Amino acid sequence: MSRCAYCGERAGFWSRMCADCKKLMACVQELRGRVGYGEFLDGLERTGVAKEKIMAFLKADPDGSGSIQDQVTAEMTTELMKVMGISGRQTAEEVKRIRDTAAKDSK
Ligand SMILES: [Zn+2]
Repeated sequence: MSRCAYCGERAGFWSRMCADCKKLMACVQELRGRVGYGEFLDGLERTGVAKEKIMAFLKADPDGSGSIQDQVTAEMTTELMKVMGISGRQTAEEVKRIRDTAAKDSK
């Protein structure tokens, strides 16, 4: 039995994601780039998956390419920068770095 790469719960034999996380991932693909972060979270909650699981899913980083949360935040920030006429691109790594820095400062 393998474990879900996102929430750590048991997944099927062949899949690296459990059914809930698959549902969440489909929802993420549908919403990303189209809605703000609040609406994005609302959309995920509408899947009926428990909130703790949604948070675990968003913070997981199984590929080391940034968590879903950081990737989506980076995309939204890039969009916002475009709207404000600032060129450039926000990356998931950069969001993570900013968040880590903010977490350190608040201590
Ligand atoms: Zn899962």
